[in-house]
Amino acid sequence: MTVSTAPTSSGTSMQAILARLQLDARRELWEQRLQAVTALDVEAAIASRPGSYSQSKLLALVSPAAEGYLEPMAALSQKLTLQRFGRAIRLYAPLYLSSFCVNRCQYCGFNRDNTLDRVRLTVDEALAEAEILAREGFRDILLVTSEDKQSITVPYLTELAQALRGKFSFIGAEIYQMSAAEYRKLFDAGIEGITLYQETYDRDAYARYHLGGPKADYDMRLRGPDDFGSAGMREIGLGALLGLADWRIETLALGEHAFHLFRRYWQSRISFSFPRLRPACGVPTEAFPHLVTDRNLVQMMLALRLCFADAGLVLSTRERADLRDRLVRLGVTRISAGSRTSPGGYSHDQQEAGQFRVNDERNASEVAGMLKRQGYEPVWKDWDRAFLSV
Ligand code: SF4
Repeated sequence: MTVSTAPTSSGTSMQAILARLQLDARRELWEQRLQAVTALDVEAAIASRPGSYSQSKLLALVSPAAEGYLEPMAALSQKLTLQRFGRAIRLYAPLYLSSFCVNRCQYCGFNRDNTLDRVRLTVDEALAEAEILAREGFRDILLVTSEDKQSITVPYLTELAQALRGKFSFIGAEIYQMSAAEYRKLFDAGIEGITLYQETYDRDAYARYHLGGPKADYDMRLRGPDDFGSAGMREIGLGALLGLADWRIETLALGEHAFHLFRRYWQSRISFSFPRLRPACGVPTEAFPHLVTDRNLVQMMLALRLCFADAGLVLSTRERADLRDRLVRLGVTRISAGSRTSPGGYSHDQQEAGQFRVNDERNASEVAGMLKRQGYEPVWKDWDRAFLSV
């Protein structure tokens, strides 16, 4: 795999930033700093300019000391999100293309050691799935694939994107890592957003959970967002898989990553996702020591919103319906609905063979109804694009 190693505009790579801060290795150092945060530090962070980032501010907001301040943080986050995004929340649906994978990610049902009936869609089959989503009203679609690059090739993805772009106003992708030149081809075909989770910024944990395949290279993974940022993607999606390492330290690394990308790709929107580990076929969550509680998740979302006013906050169907209903009020800008997490899942219901088990089973119109009842406008279309093309 060819991955560019271009330095950032400031001459500092994300790898160098993490190494300088020791955010990828010195867990105990950061645990001490988090424990040392006082109530006064938290109050100062809350009183600072809303939506602005500094590392000390994010440190205060994700610290244990901030757990007693979730209410004022929520009020501020809600206000800030209304100012920047209004009452619009974009609805999207994932479209899984393949469950064949060469990687050995220990938390994922699709890892190559797992025994399951694997499925790969042809372009025509993928279009048939997309048609079902279009009929439900979706105009924002996320193409998802495992690392199956012999079959889900760049020409496959460009052919699919070109066929989809008449029907969908936004096509995003959550796919295996590519080079900047390959991302550019996807962009030219109509894919305008890429999400690539680092999974964990902790090097030791990364090595423990990625036992084989190209994805096992931590530093290569870290370079991905720079590569699709430089390819011109309008949306740059980041996230850590919550449950692999200390969520507070992961959030600090995510903040640094976002800040680095914001400065370099100012024309793109950075968005954060919050995938919590879910049970999957052959993957019991009891094996993970850092599972994140509902309260932790709320604190993480609020802390990131208060530091990044313009970031998208994305919420998937990994979360329970009752929790999603509450989280949408706190700063969420994009939410999935009616998701199936296996290739062909919209035509044939196959929850057990999915990448993870969905937690909110409501269909798209039920989720749209929930948003309306809370005073939000469910947006099926990517209005930014409609506006830009006028
Ligand atoms: S997380 Fe992605 S790359 Fe890893 S095993 Fe699952 S599908 Fe493959």
